[in-house]
Amino acid sequence: MKAPRFHTIARGMLCLVMTVMAGCVKIQPTSPPVISKRIQMHMGTLVTVTAVASDKNVSDRAIQAAFDEVKRLEQLLSTWRSDSELSLVNAEAGRRPVQVSRETLQLVIRSLEIAELTHGGFNIALGPAVEAWSVTERQHIPEKEELRRLKPLVDWKSIQVDSERRTIYLPHKGMRIDVGGIGKGYAADRAVEKMKQAGAMGGVVALSGDIKTFGVVPERRGFPVGIRHPRQEGALIAMIDLTDEAISTAGDYERFFERDGVRYHHILDPQTLQPARACQSVTVIAKEGMVADGLDTGIFVLGPEGGMALVERLPEVEAIIIDGEGKMIVSSGLRDRLRTP
Ligand code: ADP
Ligand code: MG
Repeated sequence: MKAPRFHTIARGMLCLVMTVMAGCVKIQPTSPPVISKRIQMHMGTLVTVTAVASDKNVSDRAIQAAFDEVKRLEQLLSTWRSDSELSLVNAEAGRRPVQVSRETLQLVIRSLEIAELTHGGFNIALGPAVEAWSVTERQHIPEKEELRRLKPLVDWKSIQVDSERRTIYLPHKGMRIDVGGIGKGYAADRAVEKMKQAGAMGGVVALSGDIKTFGVVPERRGFPVGIRHPRQEGALIAMIDLTDEAISTAGDYERFFERDGVRYHHILDPQTLQPARACQSVTVIAKEGMVADGLDTGIFVLGPEGGMALVERLPEVEAIIIDGEGKMIVSSGLRDRLRTP
């Protein structure tokens, strides 16, 4: 399978309302901050980088640094390039442990932590089942027997990580790791760090719906972000101002096909290997993009009750869940922060 999760087309599930921002740049006598924005295609999706800086040189440099970092991570983490570290780990499944960089090791460890938190709702070993469904390409409804045979291959608990030796071992041939489910959030985190190093005083990195914000926004409290209505194309259910926070949405409307009136979408319940049914969309706000990106998928699988209970337990994590019937549930820390669109 090529580019399982990175090859998606941006659907703007979170609409970054940065066009509004353009109107914020006012010519003032005392050198006002400059806001620049650029869009490129990476990780199979539209990447929008916005920088606030003291002058145009700095904002341009910060934006370039962000794109360079996203490109670097695309190479490091992709499993559709046969020479990436994770591709090697996958190729040696059932044979031997493979040594990886600290960064890859850390990302896998963090992914497994999110798997633990969500009781396996988020699962980086799910690739074989994702491929069996192939929601964006073949649109195949697999037989129960086919899915049953895949079960041992998607067992994330069997992934062996040796932190001392820096190795990862997949004990069954046919297993594979794919960090695409948190890769975009992670890339947003790293790109923001590069923008800060380049001297930006604020900004946004948005990989489709995985968005990370930081620093100051001239004349506003935060960067305005819209949260999409899961059933009304183009409509928003809420707006929120963010800064120094990340936001990510998992929705059953992003990639799906319909057969005999049933919607088959791309987020699978690792227990049943069927599309998860308890939610229409889950939006998570967290300090780190990686956490928001991993948790949204995991909570989507857990469902509104278990998912919201987890969110309320975790510090600095908030969520907006649209349940299977379309009802909106908002975590306690967000109730005063949402605006009507
Ligand atoms: P994207 O931002 O590309 O839509 P997400 O972060 O929403 O990616 O993750 C969804 C993708 O992760 C799916 O397209 C699929 O490849 C994979 N996936 C599906 N179900 C799960 C799951 N339960 N845990 C982890 N990854 C999953
Ligand atoms: Mg996700």
